[in-house]
Amino acid sequence: MREARSLLIDVSELLRSPGSSRRLELEEEVAGLAVPMAHVAGAPVLDLLAERVVEGILISGTVSGALELECIRCLTEVEDVFSVPVSELFATGEIAPGDEVYPVEGDHIDLEPMVRDAVVLGLPLNPLCRPDCKGLCPQCGQDLNEADCGHRPERIDVRWEPLRRLKETMGE
Ligand SMILES: [Zn+2]
Ligand SMILES: [Zn+2]
Repeated sequence: MREARSLLIDVSELLRSPGSSRRLELEEEVAGLAVPMAHVAGAPVLDLLAERVVEGILISGTVSGALELECIRCLTEVEDVFSVPVSELFATGEIAPGDEVYPVEGDHIDLEPMVRDAVVLGLPLNPLCRPDCKGLCPQCGQDLNEADCGHRPERIDVRWEPLRRLKETMGE
């Protein structure tokens, strides 16, 4: 077993050497990389440069990995990949409320909140297995992408789909 918090990076050497930089290549599981219909599968890959700047440590690069999505119309699982750019300051000084920076904590920076912020914001809230997914028949549950069951339901407005499903789970 590896240490649970290995996104906690010792930056003491960087802090001692103005102008220095260090490459960080990491692959670590991060909890909470999920929204209702999408989550990161496995450990995201971090390819980052840590640079000592006047205000602290600047982290830039990309976070990438695999996604598992659930189509909001037919509930089919879909696999995808993601890659998000990051460029964030970890400040050594006082952080004022509203400053969009992360703290340097002693000799360490914790990349986990940064990864979570960057990745979760980019997760799709309404994933589709394909742009023209026909969804499930509301009467018999048939996947209408695979076969036409012959039912002719009224058109469902997808904007109301989450509400409809909520009503279903509450037993109408
Ligand atoms: Zn679908
Ligand atoms: Zn049907």
